[in-house]
Amino acid sequence: SNRKTLHRKFRKLSVQERLQALFDAGYFDHETHQFWQDGGTVLQENAADRMIENVVGRFAFPQGIAVNFPLNGQIYQVPLVVEEPSVVAALSFAALLAEKNGGFKAAASSPILIGQVQLTGLDDPLAAEQKLRAAQESIARAAQQAMPNMVARGGGLRDISFHHHDGEHSGRAMLVVHLHIDTQDAMGANMVNSVCEAVAPLLETICGGEAVLKILSNLADEALARAEVTLPCSQLAAPGWSGEQVRDRIILASDLALADPYRATTHNKGIMNGVDALALATGNDWRSIEAAAHAYAARDGQYRALSHWTKTENGDLHGELTMPIKVGTVGGSLQTNPAVLANLKLLGISRAQELASLMAAVGLAQNFAALRALASNGIQQGHMTLHARSVALAANAPSEIFDEVVKQLVASGEIKIETAQQIIQQIQT
Ligand code: NDP
Repeated sequence: SNRKTLHRKFRKLSVQERLQALFDAGYFDHETHQFWQDGGTVLQENAADRMIENVVGRFAFPQGIAVNFPLNGQIYQVPLVVEEPSVVAALSFAALLAEKNGGFKAAASSPILIGQVQLTGLDDPLAAEQKLRAAQESIARAAQQAMPNMVARGGGLRDISFHHHDGEHSGRAMLVVHLHIDTQDAMGANMVNSVCEAVAPLLETICGGEAVLKILSNLADEALARAEVTLPCSQLAAPGWSGEQVRDRIILASDLALADPYRATTHNKGIMNGVDALALATGNDWRSIEAAAHAYAARDGQYRALSHWTKTENGDLHGELTMPIKVGTVGGSLQTNPAVLANLKLLGISRAQELASLMAAVGLAQNFAALRALASNGIQQGHMTLHARSVALAANAPSEIFDEVVKQLVASGEIKIETAQQIIQQIQT
Protein backbone atom coordinates (compact mmCIF):
# COMPACT_ATOMS: atom_id res chain seq x y z
CA SER A 1 0.00 0.00 0.00
CA ASN A 2 1.28 3.47 -0.84
CA ARG A 3 -1.32 5.12 1.38
CA LYS A 4 0.05 6.84 4.45
CA THR A 5 -1.02 5.81 7.94
CA LEU A 6 -2.56 8.62 9.97
CA HIS A 7 -1.11 9.28 13.39
CA ARG A 8 -2.95 7.62 16.26
CA LYS A 9 -3.29 11.02 17.91
CA PHE A 10 -5.79 11.93 15.14
CA ARG A 11 -8.61 11.80 17.66
CA LYS A 12 -6.90 14.36 19.91
CA LEU A 13 -6.72 16.98 17.13
CA SER A 14 -9.16 19.79 16.43
CA VAL A 15 -11.41 19.52 13.37
CA GLN A 16 -9.17 21.90 11.39
CA GLU A 17 -6.05 19.97 12.45
CA ARG A 18 -7.63 16.69 11.34
CA LEU A 19 -8.36 18.18 7.91
CA GLN A 20 -4.75 19.37 7.74
CA ALA A 21 -3.50 15.87 8.69
CA LEU A 22 -5.56 14.29 5.88
CA PHE A 23 -4.23 16.91 3.46
CA ASP A 24 -0.60 16.41 4.60
CA ALA A 25 -0.92 12.63 4.22
CA GLY A 26 -2.12 13.10 0.64
CA TYR A 27 -5.75 12.06 1.14
CA PHE A 28 -7.10 15.48 0.15
CA ASP A 29 -6.23 17.70 -2.77
CA HIS A 30 -6.44 21.48 -2.25
CA GLU A 31 -10.01 21.62 -3.52
CA THR A 32 -11.29 18.90 -1.16
CA HIS A 33 -9.41 20.41 1.77
CA GLN A 34 -11.03 23.77 1.06
CA PHE A 35 -14.41 22.08 0.62
CA TRP A 36 -14.37 20.57 4.12
CA GLN A 37 -12.91 23.72 5.66
CA ASP A 38 -15.98 25.60 4.37
CA GLY A 39 -18.17 22.94 6.01
CA GLY A 40 -21.36 24.91 5.38
CA THR A 41 -21.24 24.48 1.61
CA VAL A 42 -21.51 20.70 1.73
CA LEU A 43 -24.87 20.59 -0.05
CA GLN A 44 -26.14 23.72 -1.78
CA GLU A 45 -29.75 24.70 -1.21
CA ASN A 46 -30.60 24.73 -4.91
CA ALA A 47 -29.10 21.24 -5.30
CA ALA A 48 -31.12 19.99 -2.33
CA ASP A 49 -34.24 21.57 -3.84
CA ARG A 50 -33.76 19.47 -6.95
CA MET A 51 -33.09 16.20 -5.09
CA ILE A 52 -36.47 15.78 -3.37
CA GLU A 53 -39.81 17.60 -3.13
CA ASN A 54 -41.02 20.49 -0.95
CA VAL A 55 -37.51 21.30 0.28
CA VAL A 56 -37.26 23.79 3.13
CA GLY A 57 -33.62 23.31 4.08
CA ARG A 58 -30.82 20.86 4.69
CA PHE A 59 -30.34 18.67 7.75
CA ALA A 60 -26.81 18.03 8.99
CA PHE A 61 -25.15 14.93 10.44
CA PRO A 62 -21.62 14.68 11.81
CA GLN A 63 -19.02 12.96 9.64
CA GLY A 64 -16.07 11.26 11.33
CA ILE A 65 -13.14 9.24 10.00
CA ALA A 66 -12.27 5.75 11.22
CA VAL A 67 -8.52 5.91 10.70
CA ASN A 68 -6.15 3.40 9.11
CA PHE A 69 -8.68 0.69 8.32
CA PRO A 70 -6.73 -2.31 6.94
CA LEU A 71 -8.42 -4.25 4.14
CA ASN A 72 -6.91 -6.56 1.52
CA GLY A 73 -3.41 -5.19 2.10
CA GLN A 74 -4.53 -1.58 1.63
CA ILE A 75 -5.27 1.18 4.15
CA TYR A 76 -8.49 3.19 4.01
CA GLN A 77 -9.49 6.33 5.90
CA VAL A 78 -13.20 5.52 6.26
CA PRO A 79 -15.75 8.37 6.30
CA LEU A 80 -18.72 7.62 8.58
CA VAL A 81 -21.87 9.74 8.72
CA VAL A 82 -23.77 8.85 11.87
CA GLU A 83 -25.47 10.49 14.83
CA GLU A 84 -24.63 7.73 17.33
CA PRO A 85 -21.57 8.20 19.53
CA SER A 86 -18.97 5.38 19.72
CA VAL A 87 -19.42 4.05 16.18
CA VAL A 88 -16.34 5.86 14.87
CA ALA A 89 -14.27 5.05 17.96
CA ALA A 90 -15.24 1.38 17.84
CA LEU A 91 -14.24 1.08 14.21
CA SER A 92 -10.91 2.81 14.76
CA PHE A 93 -10.24 0.42 17.65
CA ALA A 94 -11.07 -2.66 15.58
CA ALA A 95 -8.87 -1.32 12.77
CA LEU A 96 -5.94 -0.98 15.15
CA LEU A 97 -6.24 -4.56 16.43
CA ALA A 98 -6.75 -6.07 13.00
CA GLU A 99 -3.87 -4.13 11.50
CA LYS A 100 -1.41 -6.03 13.73
CA ASN A 101 -2.69 -9.31 12.38
CA GLY A 102 -3.01 -9.02 8.63
CA GLY A 103 -6.11 -6.84 8.61
CA PHE A 104 -9.52 -7.64 7.17
CA LYS A 105 -10.07 -9.56 3.99
CA ALA A 106 -13.18 -9.08 1.87
CA ALA A 107 -14.56 -9.70 -1.59
CA ALA A 108 -17.80 -8.99 -3.42
CA SER A 109 -19.46 -11.14 -6.06
CA SER A 110 -20.73 -9.75 -9.38
CA PRO A 111 -22.95 -6.68 -8.87
CA ILE A 112 -26.18 -8.36 -9.98
CA LEU A 113 -29.58 -6.86 -9.28
CA ILE A 114 -32.80 -8.77 -9.97
CA GLY A 115 -35.75 -7.12 -11.72
CA GLN A 116 -39.23 -8.63 -11.37
CA VAL A 117 -42.05 -8.66 -13.91
CA GLN A 118 -45.28 -10.04 -12.43
CA LEU A 119 -47.54 -11.71 -15.02
CA THR A 120 -51.17 -12.50 -14.24
CA GLY A 121 -54.32 -13.44 -16.15
CA LEU A 122 -52.70 -16.64 -17.42
CA ASP A 123 -54.94 -19.61 -18.23
CA ASP A 124 -52.09 -22.01 -17.63
CA PRO A 125 -49.09 -20.50 -15.80
CA LEU A 126 -46.88 -23.56 -16.43
CA ALA A 127 -47.60 -23.47 -20.16
CA ALA A 128 -46.89 -19.72 -20.09
CA GLU A 129 -43.48 -20.43 -18.55
CA GLN A 130 -42.73 -22.94 -21.33
CA LYS A 131 -43.60 -20.31 -24.00
CA LEU A 132 -41.35 -17.75 -22.31
CA ARG A 133 -38.52 -20.27 -21.97
CA ALA A 134 -38.79 -21.07 -25.68
CA ALA A 135 -38.48 -17.33 -26.43
CA GLN A 136 -35.62 -16.63 -24.02
CA GLU A 137 -33.27 -15.43 -26.74
CA SER A 138 -35.61 -12.72 -27.99
CA ILE A 139 -36.41 -11.67 -24.40
CA ALA A 140 -32.69 -11.40 -23.68
CA ARG A 141 -32.19 -9.36 -26.85
CA ALA A 142 -34.96 -6.95 -25.85
CA ALA A 143 -33.45 -6.54 -22.39
CA GLN A 144 -29.96 -5.88 -23.76
CA GLN A 145 -31.36 -3.36 -26.27
CA ALA A 146 -32.91 -1.46 -23.37
CA MET A 147 -29.46 -0.89 -21.80
CA PRO A 148 -26.89 -0.55 -24.61
CA ASN A 149 -24.44 1.50 -22.52
CA MET A 150 -24.51 -1.06 -19.73
CA VAL A 151 -23.84 -3.88 -22.16
CA ALA A 152 -21.02 -1.87 -23.73
CA ARG A 153 -19.31 -1.40 -20.34
CA GLY A 154 -19.47 -5.12 -19.62
CA GLY A 155 -22.75 -5.33 -17.70
CA GLY A 156 -26.24 -6.32 -18.78
CA LEU A 157 -28.51 -9.35 -18.59
CA ARG A 158 -26.93 -12.46 -17.07
CA ASP A 159 -29.88 -14.78 -16.53
CA ILE A 160 -33.67 -15.16 -16.66
CA SER A 161 -35.59 -17.23 -14.09
CA PHE A 162 -39.25 -18.07 -13.50
CA HIS A 163 -41.24 -18.24 -10.26
CA HIS A 164 -44.85 -19.23 -9.54
CA HIS A 165 -47.16 -17.97 -6.79
CA ASP A 166 -50.80 -18.19 -5.82
CA GLY A 167 -52.59 -14.91 -5.17
CA GLU A 168 -53.79 -15.16 -1.58
CA HIS A 169 -56.49 -12.48 -1.81
CA SER A 170 -56.82 -11.94 -5.57
CA GLY A 171 -57.29 -15.66 -6.13
CA ARG A 172 -55.18 -15.25 -9.29
CA ALA A 173 -52.12 -17.33 -10.03
CA MET A 174 -49.05 -15.40 -11.08
CA LEU A 175 -45.85 -16.07 -12.95
CA VAL A 176 -42.94 -13.82 -11.99
CA VAL A 177 -40.08 -13.39 -14.43
CA HIS A 178 -36.74 -12.45 -12.87
CA LEU A 179 -34.21 -10.58 -14.98
CA HIS A 180 -30.74 -10.93 -13.41
CA ILE A 181 -28.81 -7.85 -14.44
CA ASP A 182 -25.18 -6.90 -13.87
CA THR A 183 -25.32 -3.14 -13.20
CA GLN A 184 -21.54 -2.61 -12.87
CA ASP A 185 -20.78 0.46 -10.71
CA ALA A 186 -24.38 1.71 -10.37
CA MET A 187 -26.71 0.56 -7.58
CA GLY A 188 -29.01 -0.02 -10.54
CA ALA A 189 -32.54 0.52 -9.20
CA ASN A 190 -33.57 2.99 -11.89
CA MET A 191 -31.81 1.09 -14.59
CA VAL A 192 -33.35 -2.26 -13.71
CA ASN A 193 -36.81 -0.68 -13.38
CA SER A 194 -36.45 0.75 -16.89
CA VAL A 195 -35.40 -2.61 -18.33
CA CYS A 196 -38.36 -4.36 -16.64
CA GLU A 197 -40.77 -1.83 -18.15
CA ALA A 198 -39.13 -2.12 -21.57
CA VAL A 199 -39.35 -5.93 -21.64
CA ALA A 200 -42.84 -6.33 -20.12
CA PRO A 201 -44.90 -5.79 -23.35
CA LEU A 202 -42.88 -8.52 -25.10
CA LEU A 203 -43.50 -10.91 -22.19
CA GLU A 204 -47.25 -10.14 -22.37
CA THR A 205 -47.30 -10.82 -26.09
CA ILE A 206 -45.45 -14.13 -25.77
CA CYS A 207 -47.55 -15.62 -22.97
CA GLY A 208 -50.83 -13.72 -23.32
CA GLY A 209 -50.82 -12.46 -19.75
CA GLU A 210 -50.90 -9.03 -18.17
CA ALA A 211 -47.77 -7.51 -16.60
CA VAL A 212 -48.65 -5.79 -13.31
CA LEU A 213 -45.52 -4.98 -11.29
CA LYS A 214 -42.28 -4.17 -13.11
CA ILE A 215 -39.62 -3.31 -10.55
CA LEU A 216 -36.30 -4.33 -9.00
CA SER A 217 -36.12 -6.63 -6.02
CA ASN A 218 -34.19 -5.20 -3.09
CA LEU A 219 -33.26 -8.72 -2.03
CA ALA A 220 -29.90 -8.50 -3.80
CA ASP A 221 -28.81 -11.99 -2.84
CA GLU A 222 -26.66 -12.33 -5.94
CA ALA A 223 -24.58 -9.31 -4.93
CA LEU A 224 -23.03 -10.77 -1.80
CA ALA A 225 -20.07 -9.28 0.01
CA ARG A 226 -18.02 -11.46 2.32
CA ALA A 227 -15.54 -10.25 4.94
CA GLU A 228 -13.35 -12.07 7.43
CA VAL A 229 -10.75 -11.39 10.10
CA THR A 230 -8.55 -13.45 12.44
CA LEU A 231 -7.44 -12.07 15.79
CA PRO A 232 -5.05 -13.71 18.25
CA CYS A 233 -6.16 -14.03 21.88
CA SER A 234 -3.24 -11.92 23.03
CA GLN A 235 -5.02 -8.91 21.54
CA LEU A 236 -8.44 -9.61 22.99
CA ALA A 237 -7.69 -9.22 26.69
CA ALA A 238 -9.62 -6.48 28.51
CA PRO A 239 -9.28 -5.16 32.08
CA GLY A 240 -10.22 -8.12 34.31
CA TRP A 241 -10.50 -10.58 31.40
CA SER A 242 -7.94 -12.81 29.70
CA GLY A 243 -7.82 -13.01 25.90
CA GLU A 244 -9.06 -16.62 26.02
CA GLN A 245 -12.04 -15.64 28.16
CA VAL A 246 -12.98 -12.79 25.82
CA ARG A 247 -12.61 -15.07 22.78
CA ASP A 248 -14.81 -17.78 24.28
CA ARG A 249 -17.45 -15.29 25.38
CA ILE A 250 -17.51 -13.66 21.90
CA ILE A 251 -18.15 -17.14 20.45
CA LEU A 252 -20.95 -17.66 22.98
CA ALA A 253 -22.47 -14.31 22.02
CA SER A 254 -22.22 -15.25 18.35
CA ASP A 255 -23.91 -18.61 18.99
CA LEU A 256 -26.82 -16.87 20.69
CA ALA A 257 -27.21 -14.56 17.69
CA LEU A 258 -27.36 -17.57 15.37
CA ALA A 259 -30.02 -19.29 17.45
CA ASP A 260 -32.19 -16.46 18.76
CA PRO A 261 -33.89 -13.74 16.67
CA TYR A 262 -34.10 -11.41 19.68
CA ARG A 263 -30.32 -11.38 19.93
CA ALA A 264 -29.78 -11.66 16.15
CA THR A 265 -31.67 -8.41 15.54
CA THR A 266 -29.42 -6.49 17.93
CA HIS A 267 -26.30 -8.24 16.63
CA ASN A 268 -27.20 -7.26 13.06
CA LYS A 269 -28.10 -3.73 14.11
CA GLY A 270 -24.51 -3.40 15.34
CA ILE A 271 -23.24 -4.51 11.94
CA MET A 272 -25.49 -1.95 10.25
CA ASN A 273 -24.06 0.82 12.48
CA GLY A 274 -20.95 0.63 10.33
CA VAL A 275 -22.57 -0.32 7.01
CA ASP A 276 -25.17 2.47 7.10
CA ALA A 277 -22.71 5.15 8.21
CA LEU A 278 -20.47 4.36 5.25
CA ALA A 279 -23.51 4.09 2.95
CA LEU A 280 -24.61 7.58 3.96
CA ALA A 281 -21.11 8.99 3.54
CA THR A 282 -20.95 7.58 0.01
CA GLY A 283 -24.45 8.70 -1.02
CA ASN A 284 -25.93 5.22 -1.11
CA ASP A 285 -29.52 4.19 -0.44
CA TRP A 286 -29.21 2.75 3.06
CA ARG A 287 -32.88 1.67 3.19
CA SER A 288 -32.24 -0.67 0.32
CA ILE A 289 -29.15 -2.11 2.04
CA GLU A 290 -31.09 -2.50 5.30
CA ALA A 291 -34.03 -4.20 3.57
CA ALA A 292 -31.71 -6.63 1.79
CA ALA A 293 -29.67 -7.39 4.92
CA HIS A 294 -32.65 -8.34 7.07
CA ALA A 295 -34.39 -10.35 4.35
CA TYR A 296 -31.14 -12.22 3.74
CA ALA A 297 -30.73 -12.80 7.49
CA ALA A 298 -34.08 -14.63 7.43
CA ARG A 299 -33.45 -16.55 4.20
CA ASP A 300 -33.84 -20.04 5.72
CA GLY A 301 -37.07 -19.11 7.48
CA GLN A 302 -35.50 -18.01 10.76
CA TYR A 303 -33.92 -14.62 11.31
CA ARG A 304 -30.23 -15.13 12.17
CA ALA A 305 -26.97 -13.28 12.66
CA LEU A 306 -25.29 -12.18 9.43
CA SER A 307 -21.88 -12.94 10.94
CA HIS A 308 -20.43 -15.68 13.10
CA TRP A 309 -17.32 -16.10 15.25
CA THR A 310 -15.36 -19.30 15.78
CA LYS A 311 -12.10 -20.58 17.28
CA THR A 312 -9.37 -21.51 14.79
CA GLU A 313 -7.18 -24.58 15.18
CA ASN A 314 -4.44 -22.58 16.87
CA GLY A 315 -6.86 -20.86 19.22
CA ASP A 316 -7.31 -17.52 17.42
CA LEU A 317 -10.69 -15.85 17.06
CA HIS A 318 -12.08 -15.91 13.52
CA GLY A 319 -15.02 -13.79 12.34
CA GLU A 320 -16.90 -13.98 9.08
CA LEU A 321 -19.72 -11.91 7.61
CA THR A 322 -21.71 -12.48 4.43
CA MET A 323 -24.47 -10.08 3.38
CA PRO A 324 -25.99 -8.56 0.28
CA ILE A 325 -24.52 -5.16 -0.52
CA LYS A 326 -25.75 -3.53 -3.72
CA VAL A 327 -24.16 -0.09 -3.80
CA GLY A 328 -23.06 2.40 -6.42
CA THR A 329 -20.10 4.66 -7.05
CA VAL A 330 -22.07 6.39 -9.85
CA GLY A 331 -25.70 7.45 -10.22
CA GLY A 332 -28.28 8.10 -7.52
CA SER A 333 -27.52 11.17 -5.40
CA LEU A 334 -23.83 10.65 -5.96
CA GLN A 335 -23.49 13.31 -8.62
CA THR A 336 -25.56 15.96 -6.84
CA ASN A 337 -23.98 15.83 -3.39
CA PRO A 338 -20.40 17.13 -3.48
CA ALA A 339 -19.65 15.59 -0.05
CA VAL A 340 -20.19 12.16 -1.62
CA LEU A 341 -17.63 12.81 -4.33
CA ALA A 342 -15.18 14.12 -1.73
CA ASN A 343 -15.65 10.91 0.30
CA LEU A 344 -15.14 8.60 -2.67
CA LYS A 345 -11.94 10.54 -3.40
CA LEU A 346 -10.84 10.17 0.22
CA LEU A 347 -11.41 6.41 -0.01
CA GLY A 348 -9.75 6.19 -3.40
CA ILE A 349 -12.62 3.99 -4.55
CA SER A 350 -14.21 4.09 -8.00
CA ARG A 351 -15.62 0.56 -8.35
CA ALA A 352 -18.83 -0.59 -6.67
CA GLN A 353 -17.39 -4.01 -5.76
CA GLU A 354 -14.52 -2.44 -3.85
CA LEU A 355 -16.97 -0.25 -1.93
CA ALA A 356 -19.17 -3.28 -1.17
CA SER A 357 -16.13 -5.19 0.15
CA LEU A 358 -15.15 -2.29 2.38
CA MET A 359 -18.73 -1.98 3.67
CA ALA A 360 -18.80 -5.65 4.64
CA ALA A 361 -15.43 -5.37 6.39
CA VAL A 362 -16.60 -2.24 8.22
CA GLY A 363 -19.75 -4.11 9.30
CA LEU A 364 -17.69 -7.02 10.62
CA ALA A 365 -15.30 -4.65 12.44
CA GLN A 366 -18.22 -2.86 14.08
CA ASN A 367 -19.67 -6.22 15.09
CA PHE A 368 -16.33 -7.26 16.62
CA ALA A 369 -15.95 -4.06 18.65
CA ALA A 370 -19.46 -4.41 20.08
CA LEU A 371 -19.01 -8.11 20.90
CA ARG A 372 -15.63 -7.54 22.54
CA ALA A 373 -17.14 -4.91 24.83
CA LEU A 374 -20.20 -7.08 25.55
CA ALA A 375 -18.02 -10.13 26.21
CA SER A 376 -15.88 -8.27 28.75
CA ASN A 377 -16.96 -5.23 30.72
CA GLY A 378 -20.19 -4.39 28.88
CA ILE A 379 -20.74 -1.52 26.51
CA GLN A 380 -22.09 1.04 28.94
CA GLN A 381 -18.72 2.04 30.37
CA GLY A 382 -17.36 3.30 27.06
CA HIS A 383 -20.75 4.34 25.74
CA MET A 384 -21.56 6.49 28.73
CA THR A 385 -18.48 8.67 28.37
CA LEU A 386 -19.43 9.32 24.78
CA HIS A 387 -23.07 9.76 25.67
CA ALA A 388 -22.01 12.23 28.37
CA ARG A 389 -20.32 14.32 25.68
CA SER A 390 -23.61 14.70 23.76
CA VAL A 391 -25.44 15.52 26.98
CA ALA A 392 -22.80 18.12 27.97
CA LEU A 393 -23.19 19.61 24.50
CA ALA A 394 -26.97 19.71 24.84
CA ALA A 395 -26.53 21.50 28.20
CA ASN A 396 -24.36 24.12 26.44
CA ALA A 397 -21.22 23.35 28.45
CA PRO A 398 -18.68 26.07 27.52
CA SER A 399 -15.68 24.65 25.67
CA GLU A 400 -13.13 25.74 28.33
CA ILE A 401 -14.82 23.52 30.95
CA PHE A 402 -16.31 20.91 28.57
CA ASP A 403 -14.00 18.01 29.46
CA GLU A 404 -14.39 18.67 33.19
CA VAL A 405 -18.19 18.66 32.86
CA VAL A 406 -18.05 15.34 31.00
CA LYS A 407 -15.78 13.85 33.69
CA GLN A 408 -18.05 14.91 36.54
CA LEU A 409 -21.13 13.84 34.62
CA VAL A 410 -19.76 10.29 34.19
CA ALA A 411 -18.68 10.21 37.86
CA SER A 412 -22.17 11.31 38.94
CA GLY A 413 -23.69 8.23 37.32
CA GLU A 414 -26.61 10.44 36.19
CA ILE A 415 -26.05 11.33 32.54
CA LYS A 416 -28.88 13.83 32.24
CA ILE A 417 -29.11 17.38 30.94
CA GLU A 418 -30.26 18.70 34.35
CA THR A 419 -27.25 17.11 36.06
CA ALA A 420 -24.96 18.62 33.44
CA GLN A 421 -26.49 22.05 34.00
CA GLN A 422 -25.95 21.73 37.76
CA ILE A 423 -22.32 20.71 37.21
CA ILE A 424 -21.78 23.66 34.87
CA GLN A 425 -23.19 26.03 37.48
CA GLN A 426 -21.03 24.54 40.23
CA ILE A 427 -17.87 24.86 38.16
CA GLN A 428 -18.69 28.42 37.13
CA THR A 429 -19.45 29.73 40.64
P1 NDP B 1 -29.12 6.15 -11.82
O1 NDP B 1 -30.52 6.15 -12.25
O2 NDP B 1 -28.50 7.45 -11.50
O3 NDP B 1 -28.33 5.37 -12.95
C1 NDP B 1 -26.97 5.11 -12.96
C2 NDP B 1 -26.53 5.20 -14.39
O4 NDP B 1 -25.18 5.65 -14.47
C3 NDP B 1 -26.48 3.87 -15.09
O5 NDP B 1 -27.72 3.44 -15.47
C4 NDP B 1 -25.57 4.19 -16.26
O6 NDP B 1 -26.36 4.75 -17.30
C5 NDP B 1 -24.67 5.28 -15.73
N1 NDP B 1 -23.27 4.86 -15.54
C6 NDP B 1 -22.16 5.58 -15.82
N2 NDP B 1 -21.05 4.90 -15.52
C7 NDP B 1 -21.42 3.71 -15.04
C8 NDP B 1 -20.70 2.56 -14.55
N3 NDP B 1 -19.36 2.52 -14.49
N4 NDP B 1 -21.40 1.52 -14.11
C9 NDP B 1 -22.75 1.52 -14.13
N5 NDP B 1 -23.47 2.57 -14.59
C10 NDP B 1 -22.83 3.67 -15.04
O7 NDP B 1 -28.90 5.23 -10.55
P2 NDP B 1 -29.35 3.76 -10.30
O8 NDP B 1 -30.01 3.11 -11.46
O9 NDP B 1 -28.15 3.11 -9.75
O10 NDP B 1 -30.46 3.93 -9.18
C11 NDP B 1 -30.08 4.19 -7.86
C12 NDP B 1 -31.10 5.12 -7.25
O11 NDP B 1 -32.39 4.59 -7.36
C13 NDP B 1 -30.87 5.34 -5.79
O12 NDP B 1 -30.74 6.71 -5.55
C14 NDP B 1 -32.12 4.79 -5.12
O13 NDP B 1 -32.45 5.54 -3.98
C15 NDP B 1 -33.14 4.89 -6.19
N6 NDP B 1 -34.26 3.97 -6.17
C16 NDP B 1 -34.30 2.88 -5.33
C17 NDP B 1 -35.35 2.02 -5.36
C18 NDP B 1 -35.31 0.82 -4.48
O14 NDP B 1 -34.27 0.53 -3.91
N7 NDP B 1 -36.38 0.05 -4.35
C19 NDP B 1 -36.51 2.24 -6.24
C20 NDP B 1 -36.34 3.36 -7.13
C21 NDP B 1 -35.27 4.20 -7.06
P3 NDP B 1 -26.01 4.41 -18.85
O15 NDP B 1 -25.83 2.92 -18.92
O16 NDP B 1 -27.17 4.89 -19.62
O17 NDP B 1 -24.72 5.15 -19.12
